[in-house]
Amino acid sequence: MDAVLEGWVDNAYALVRPPGHHARRAGGLGFCLVNNIGVAIARSIARGDAERVAVVDFDVHHGNGTQDIFYADPNVLTISLHQDQLFPANSGHLHENGNGPGVGANLNVPLPPGSGHGAYLAAFDEVVLPALHRFVPDVIVVAAGYDAGAYDPLGRQMLTSATYREMTRKLLSAAEELCDGRLVASHEGGYSPWAVPFHGLAVLEEMAGVRSGVADPFARSFEIAGQQDLQPHQRSAIERAANLVTNRLDSTAS
Ligand SMILES: [Zn+2]
Repeated sequence: MDAVLEGWVDNAYALVRPPGHHARRAGGLGFCLVNNIGVAIARSIARGDAERVAVVDFDVHHGNGTQDIFYADPNVLTISLHQDQLFPANSGHLHENGNGPGVGANLNVPLPPGSGHGAYLAAFDEVVLPALHRFVPDVIVVAAGYDAGAYDPLGRQMLTSATYREMTRKLLSAAEELCDGRLVASHEGGYSPWAVPFHGLAVLEEMAGVRSGVADPFARSFEIAGQQDLQPHQRSAIERAANLVTNRLDSTAS
């Protein structure tokens, strides 16, 4: 965060363990001890290095800890895309939309199990990018989990490295338009030891603007799978989340 906000680098990826996005103000949860991005954001705001920060969490689980920490804060927009009610239980609903002055600045996009490339990119186009453009952050922070990958043993989504690459492209382009390209990603979940390295590589290649030439040998079997394109029930879930962007987020816009 310091390196990006002080202008040493355009973007940065924190390859950290343990992950952080389930850890709340009150303590750790779900493999997470400390909310890594929460600490980084709070510190940067306290130091005056940033005023408005947007978090985009594409881990398959709800970013409940980050939501908890900034729930009443209008200067931190938290957006979580996750499989509907996977973990924690009964968490990550649409109606969890912020509290007090933070109303509108917490967006949940609970996606049905089986969501793939089309659903995630539609969620970006219909919810994430419009919310970022309304909010206009000083920096975009990405909770980069890879457990929405098709091979993940804990998630039931169908993403491939092509999806992670495309989501990263969209975030980098938003950062370029809104905050001089400032983007920080931090490693979250992902439990397939063979697929996660290729998904992470796709994100890192986009952030670095470098192609390694290493191809994902596992991508094709799921890229050609049925229902990778946006399905009607996924579209309706995304539309419900998109309504929150148009109706609520304006109240926190500067
Ligand atoms: Zn996860």
